[in-house]
Amino acid sequence: ERSDRSEEQVSGAKVIAQALKTQNVEYMFGVVGIPVTEIAVAAQELGIRYIGMRNEQAACYAASAVGYLTGRPGVCLVVSGPGLIHALGGMANANMNCWPLIVIGGSSERSQETMGAFQEFPQVEACRLYSKFSARPSSIEAIPTVIEKAVRSSIYGRPGACYVDIPADFVTLQMNVNSIKYKECCMPPPVSMAETSAVCMAASVIRNARQPLLIIGKGAAYAHAEESIRKLVEQCKLPFLPTPMGKGVVPDNHPNCVSAARSRALQSADVIVLFGARLNWILHFGLPPRYQPDVKFIQVDICAEELGNNVRPAVTLLGDINAVTKQLLEQFDKTPWQYPPESKWWNTLREKMKDNEAASKELASKKSLPMNYYTVFYHVQEQLPRDCFVVSEGANTMDIGRTVLQNYLPRHRLDAGTFGTMGVGLGFAIAAALVAKDRNPGKRVICVEGDSAFGFSGMEVETICRYNLPIILLIVNNNGIYQGFDTDSWKEMLKCEDATTGAPPICLLPDSHYEQIMAAFGGKGYFVQTPEELQKSLRQTLEDTTKPSLINIMIEPQATRKAQCFLSWFLDWHPL
Ligand code: ADP
Ligand code: MG
Repeated sequence: ERSDRSEEQVSGAKVIAQALKTQNVEYMFGVVGIPVTEIAVAAQELGIRYIGMRNEQAACYAASAVGYLTGRPGVCLVVSGPGLIHALGGMANANMNCWPLIVIGGSSERSQETMGAFQEFPQVEACRLYSKFSARPSSIEAIPTVIEKAVRSSIYGRPGACYVDIPADFVTLQMNVNSIKYKECCMPPPVSMAETSAVCMAASVIRNARQPLLIIGKGAAYAHAEESIRKLVEQCKLPFLPTPMGKGVVPDNHPNCVSAARSRALQSADVIVLFGARLNWILHFGLPPRYQPDVKFIQVDICAEELGNNVRPAVTLLGDINAVTKQLLEQFDKTPWQYPPESKWWNTLREKMKDNEAASKELASKKSLPMNYYTVFYHVQEQLPRDCFVVSEGANTMDIGRTVLQNYLPRHRLDAGTFGTMGVGLGFAIAAALVAKDRNPGKRVICVEGDSAFGFSGMEVETICRYNLPIILLIVNNNGIYQGFDTDSWKEMLKCEDATTGAPPICLLPDSHYEQIMAAFGGKGYFVQTPEELQKSLRQTLEDTTKPSLINIMIEPQATRKAQCFLSWFLDWHPL
């Protein structure tokens, strides 16, 4: 029997699947074709969940969202050449977001390299710009080692995307089973702490702050630092501001959340502690006029190269956010301190919040039709289950939606992110729905899309229906990109000119019935024009936990956000 076993053969495809399984990979998204179909089949046979998508970009977005939500990378499996190139958008997005991801690309046969082989492309080189690790195993025996290294690299240090290239001839080649040695599952990322002296200095800077502010980024969400950060907020009574995907680390309705006074909080704070948030465009680079010129930044990040970007920080705390926050808490346990709740700073922030909240409530209460953004989002917020995942993209839709739709749990908001990528919504929603199904059955996924954003990956509605994921897609439809036109103006434009020369580039076809796309695949579609129709359709979709649905919400094509103090709305995605 022993000698029988030694002659047992195994294909390269099976070696890849087993290597992924050994690294605890749970989900694989992809589009199959030559030469990777066998890899998907082998993965499925081993119990890895395989989700066939309609475009590699969406598959890659989905795999990266799994990484963010679970802390273990999802896999995106793609074919050679164009398949891999389509996935680059997803890799770039994951890498920019600092999310773990493994992309496995089939590539042309080694014996035909440089000959103009089918879909030949320098894939390892191509992926280098979009990843933190990109390699081709030198042999089938080397596959487990390279896959272990890719998985490890994706989650150690600053998380990111990793690429493994698999030449077509590897996939079908048969090997003696005994010649393959699988590497054990890599250990969880080591937890690093900040230098003690830096922690003491940070605590002292916070104690001496006149107008302190904590900024909570998606790094804090990824680090599962919710408990420690909440403790710091409450123990020291500090105001905090979440970044878009930092929302929910501490609930949005927490009394110390100053989102509704965002601009004021940034502009007047004298000490800002950054928990896993980069001083990039999202935070206006940390520079005047959006900040005080002498604001003291305390940066907490796992990536040393990030520290000092754009500003000279007062203190840098290099380490894991959860561990470092606990170090800070120790300081405040040793010598208790709290920021006075009746300070002038708190009063300023509270007043500003009241004004801003009143302004959006007023817009929301407008009875005119078509509806505006605020009316739509207030009705959605009213019915949103507290524990749901909110996925969102679009320009105004995402920005205004973020200010109204509340997150109460960490890692429950997914949006266009650091790279401002449009087209991520459906892939993210599919990933969230799968993770919810496996880990928190019954949790809903609400995907709030602009009509333009929806178009980037609209065919993934078929994927949603095929796997029967009860996602609720909301399309906030203004007939265009940023803004659109009503049917009459559109017809007028078509009359006098050729639309390719006459129609504003922001136009999309007015009154498009996107809900019919959902109906085409067996899901439920709604077309709504009034608050009452919106309320009713939301109620029905939330009650039906068995089916995906799409609510196409017609809004005023020229609606925008309320006036802002700084840059105009399209230059600055961050309202209030
Ligand atoms: P946001 O978009 O919410 O502002 P960013 O993506 O800009 O957030 O920043 C996230 C930061 O979090 C990155 O600089 C990344 O290095 C850091 N980070 C990720 N995981 C951890 C961790 N476990 N501990 C500390 N920092 C982390
Ligand atoms: Mg639009």
